[in-house]
Amino acid sequence: MVPVSERTDLPHVVVVGGGFGGLAVVKALAKAPVRVTLVERRVYNTFQPLLYQVATGGLNPGDVTYWLRGLRLKQKNLRVLHEHLVGIDHDARAIRLANDEQVSFDYLVLANGVTVNFFDTPGAKENALGMYSRSQALRIRDQLFIRLERSAFTRDSDDGLRVVVVGGGATGVEVAGALAELRTAGLAPAYPEIHGDAFEITVVQRGAELLKSFHPSLREYAAKELGHRGVKLHLGAGVAEVRPDAVILTDGTRIRADLTVWSAGVGPHPEVDDWDVPRRNGGRIAVGADLQVEGRPGVFAIGDIAESPDWQPQLAQPAIQGGQQVARNILALLEGRATGSLQYHDKGTMAVIGRRAAIAEITLPVTSKKLRLTAGLAWLVWLFVHIMSLVGPRNRVTTLAGLVTRYGFPFHRRPIPIVGDVPTIRPSK
Ligand SMILES: Cc1cc2nc3c(=O)[nH]c(=O)nc-3n(C[C@H](O)[C@H](O)[C@H](O)COP(=O)(O)OP(=O)(O)OC[C@H]3O[C@@H](n4cnc5c(N)ncnc54)[C@H](O)[C@@H]3O)c2cc1C
Repeated sequence: MVPVSERTDLPHVVVVGGGFGGLAVVKALAKAPVRVTLVERRVYNTFQPLLYQVATGGLNPGDVTYWLRGLRLKQKNLRVLHEHLVGIDHDARAIRLANDEQVSFDYLVLANGVTVNFFDTPGAKENALGMYSRSQALRIRDQLFIRLERSAFTRDSDDGLRVVVVGGGATGVEVAGALAELRTAGLAPAYPEIHGDAFEITVVQRGAELLKSFHPSLREYAAKELGHRGVKLHLGAGVAEVRPDAVILTDGTRIRADLTVWSAGVGPHPEVDDWDVPRRNGGRIAVGADLQVEGRPGVFAIGDIAESPDWQPQLAQPAIQGGQQVARNILALLEGRATGSLQYHDKGTMAVIGRRAAIAEITLPVTSKKLRLTAGLAWLVWLFVHIMSLVGPRNRVTTLAGLVTRYGFPFHRRPIPIVGDVPTIRPSK
């Protein structure tokens, strides 16, 4: 018998990108009378909100990634294609993949997310690391440990580890907070050879304040907590250049940097230019209120890559809710009904700084008032939300164990980090 995923008599929905948005569409169509093909350039889904925990030795890479073919165990109408979308032939209603294969579609959902944007800053592409994939997170982790071992060997405080985090949004603050956690709790006793000042963390932010999307009271709390943890803040100047050993700011300041982490902005993947789709601010694909690409019936775009007239932030929830709405709209089109608009429900935002320190702004149901939390309570809410949002029970259990081991009493006194890869020493003869 032909598997449901291969039945050509069923309408074909092609979803590009297995992130938050793509998986929301795929799952919502599990029982629909369609066959679904998920095209994803990686074999796994990446839970980006916890990548910085991998980069700082708090979690294993497998905790925040999920094998996409695993979805097939529960969803028989799904085919998973490990490929990369390069072009769209709108007249032929087919996509072209990197291997030159053409895949025809009845409905197409573009959920390919965005990537790091260096804003043409000289030297940034060559000398700064982004954090969009698990391999990038592992590279940062390895670099941290390579530098630490080097300074322990030379015992020279000049040969230390100076990390500059570019961008004072939620990601930059979380990266800096996790680095400080690694330094203050775990590394000092493990590396007695390293002078305290030799591991410096600096956040550089163009604007005058961190976390501009949060309420001022929460921004103030976050800046104070980072300060307590020894993180230096350099606010009010952008980055003019990134060199292999320093970051040069627009106000002329030179900050020494052994490692520069770039979390200052995002932009579309370059291949979107070839897809013949209308664009809005920042190159996002222009969609209508029902998330269909303007002038392209049956083609939808959601999540970070899409911008509807009713603007939504580039966060997980708009991608998930957009994916669920697209699934409803595809069913409506199949049944000859009118499509509906996305009614986005802003559940709130949060960021963690370290042990018992986080900020959360939660939208209360009915009244839509904001509940603002800080410290341990915000941290617990953050933990609950992130654990529940992970894909797969195994990842929830291992991530909970990893985060409790890093931050929870009594483990935090000696939270042994997950060590990075430092080249093996081999005798020369
Ligand atoms: C470090 C970091 C921390 C974050 N923290 C938070 C947070 O705490 N809370 C929050 O709400 N949001 C957070 N975000 C933002 C959040 O992760 C994104 O808003 C969300 O992932 C967007 O979902 P998406 O489905 O649009 O794209 P993604 O989740 O990025 O998925 C896109 C997928 O498409 C694939 N892809 C790309 N191009 C192609 C192609 N041409 N062909 C095939 N596949 C392709 C990619 O491999 C990827 O798997 C964070 C982001 C980062 C990078």
